[in-house]
Amino acid sequence: MSAGRSRPADPEWIVGVDVGGTNLRVGAIPFAGGAPVEVMHGKTRAQEGAKATVRRIGAMVRKVAARVEGEVVGVGVGVPGPLDRKRAMVLETPNLGWRNVPLGSMIADETKLPAVIDNDAACFALGEWWMGAGQRAECLVGVTLGTGVGSGIVLGGRIHHGASDAAGELGHTVVAVGGRRCGCGRRGCVEAYASGPAIAGRAREALAEGIAVAPSVLGRRDPGAITARDVCAAAAAGDELARIVVQRAADMLAVALANVIHLLNPDVLVIGGGVAAAGRFLMGPLRTGVERRAFASAVRACRLVPAAFPETSGMVGAAAVFRQATGAAL
Ligand SMILES: [Zn+2]
Repeated sequence: MSAGRSRPADPEWIVGVDVGGTNLRVGAIPFAGGAPVEVMHGKTRAQEGAKATVRRIGAMVRKVAARVEGEVVGVGVGVPGPLDRKRAMVLETPNLGWRNVPLGSMIADETKLPAVIDNDAACFALGEWWMGAGQRAECLVGVTLGTGVGSGIVLGGRIHHGASDAAGELGHTVVAVGGRRCGCGRRGCVEAYASGPAIAGRAREALAEGIAVAPSVLGRRDPGAITARDVCAAAAAGDELARIVVQRAADMLAVALANVIHLLNPDVLVIGGGVAAAGRFLMGPLRTGVERRAFASAVRACRLVPAAFPETSGMVGAAAVFRQATGAAL
């Protein structure tokens, strides 16, 4: 972490990087805030190892930096955790398979720019707080539905990290004791029910079990190729089997969100990530499920909304983390 050193008098751009389980996103964000420009997409391909992924990130950052007019002052990176932010290390990530990766210094070496890292879902939450659906919220919780289920807590405009940077691991809170096996090795985590792979897996099972009366459009597909996006699209188009599957995933997620509401009494809950981007259909059953389980006064006080920028808030929030690391407020 070297973001604090010699901030130029007139800084202009921060490059934000969002390292997802599947996709990489890189873009330039104005230091003063604003929409990202020169956005580039790539594949994470984490199985090739951290070095190979970092080399590709470095190349993308250099390309984006070369395309903007003005100075690039640093890089903010959102990455799945748990992390050690002080040492800018990725300690372990079930969805990337990385262990003890000094990501901050590796990115700084590749780009010759100061770099900070923070949890990807926390970056998403801060991005939505800064520029998106939860601007100026007192307590915002952002939830990302993608390869995993991530979350971030923003209190008074700052990410709440907890004692060891592990706050906001909503995906691994248990919603079913002795339930389905999760990628983390434990059982019954909400991620085992509401992540993209979990939703796709449930759809495959549902097809095999024949749970719906009407034939499903998903039945015409190669079962191995069905994605959560396909399931959400089919649900939105009225497919009975897909609706049942999405409804179940939403219901498990609603249990986790009701717990969040009871614990934190947030004024905004923002739902993002690739699955949510594909499935606004999710929001209805999610709202109903939360209303059934949480105190009415706390539900009334909480706006449960889809992300304003589900695809880009992660990198905008990563840039916001860099901005805060220089001492500037958002
Ligand atoms: Zn888990």
